[in-house]
Amino acid sequence: MAADKVSQADKIASGLTRRQLIEIEACSRCGECLAWCPVYQHDKKEENTARGKLGCLRKMAAEQPGAADQAGLLDGLYACSACGQCHVVCPIRINTPELWEQARLALVSAGLPQPEPQRQQLAQIRQYNNSYGRRQEERGLWAERAWQAGFLLRPVLTWNEQPSEVLYFAGCTASFDQTMQPVAVQSARLLQEAGVRFSILGADEPCCASKLRRMGDSAFPAEAAMRTEMLVRKKVRTIVVSCAGCFKGLHADYRGILPGSIEVLHLTGFLNKLIQEGRLKPKHEVPLAVTYHDPCHLGRHSGIYEEPRRVLGSIPGLRIIEMKRSGPFSACCGMGGGLKLARPELQKKMSAARIREAEATGAEAVVTPCQTCLMGLAAGAVAASSSLPVFHLNEMLIRSVCPDINFDRIAAKLKLPDGPDGKPAA
Ligand code: SF4
Ligand code: SF4
Repeated sequence: MAADKVSQADKIASGLTRRQLIEIEACSRCGECLAWCPVYQHDKKEENTARGKLGCLRKMAAEQPGAADQAGLLDGLYACSACGQCHVVCPIRINTPELWEQARLALVSAGLPQPEPQRQQLAQIRQYNNSYGRRQEERGLWAERAWQAGFLLRPVLTWNEQPSEVLYFAGCTASFDQTMQPVAVQSARLLQEAGVRFSILGADEPCCASKLRRMGDSAFPAEAAMRTEMLVRKKVRTIVVSCAGCFKGLHADYRGILPGSIEVLHLTGFLNKLIQEGRLKPKHEVPLAVTYHDPCHLGRHSGIYEEPRRVLGSIPGLRIIEMKRSGPFSACCGMGGGLKLARPELQKKMSAARIREAEATGAEAVVTPCQTCLMGLAAGAVAASSSLPVFHLNEMLIRSVCPDINFDRIAAKLKLPDGPDGKPAA
């Protein structure tokens, strides 16, 4: 039994990098991370904080891990949205998001249990190449249906039909979740309005696989390499991504895998550039005071704070009021890191708290450029009994550029009757 424990500790230690083993020891136990952790705010257990997780991990990677440390670490690691707030406030700058992901991988590899809903989602991604368990052939259908419904200026072609200067990467959620397909449609329309020549991969668009990395699946490097090969084979040069999670995946998780010659841009940065160059012209007034929610994957993890605010600032009549916590200190809505799968009740509390913070600004709406945050915050508004509207950033720009295709109109038109399995019919 003792030998098993030692070998498990060795496995965990060898699953972490040398730098991470040093970081585990470097924690000064100052407790600054406790004051900022959005999970700890709603579930006051030490293991939910960075300090607590580091303490358990230190013992787990040592020779005699106790059962309580193991249970604590498992609880704490999965009750974490990997938001990165603890990294920002830590005086030692321990790279906690990287550490949590690597620790999940090390623990799974050492045979420790993972929450079943996470395991199921990872299996679905590996089996179907998307996180919705849908047929890949349905991926590009949003574009065909949007063209037929008159939401686009011209048909969106696939890369196989017409390779272009830009590849628009919609991601699983905007492709398959009918409530979020307007994000893909509005992204495509805005690119068309600016005269950008772009194509989509359609049925060939893979899941970015970043969730494999987030939730500790050892298949991530091989899956990322396979996707990279395809992008290189297709001679893709610039990828514009509307999903914050896919952006972090392709931009950061693929570092060292994706060649530097392939540029990965988030849609908001690209739209900002198009506006600055005069190619995209916000012209209609949008008389609204909004507050901006920074998605963790875009803000803290990727350093993109200014461009989305500049896009909003370019819209005539629109005014931004910042929340108490914004930019690097923006409070997480709880939708990242697989937390919603592992601890859905916690995620809802975090979103509801963020909505209350947004309400406190006196703004008339909250805006975010991430469809996952949009879903979380919308559910949070319900949980907080708030009537504060939650909008995708695209919707604000669309109202100013081409108000004929607002989000609700697209969603209503693209919605299909449910199939016999309760899923929307393809
Ligand atoms: S990453 Fe976010 S949720 Fe996780 S421990 Fe750090 S502050 Fe808390
Ligand atoms: S802020 Fe950093 S050093 Fe301080 S307790 Fe948290 S992880 Fe440790």
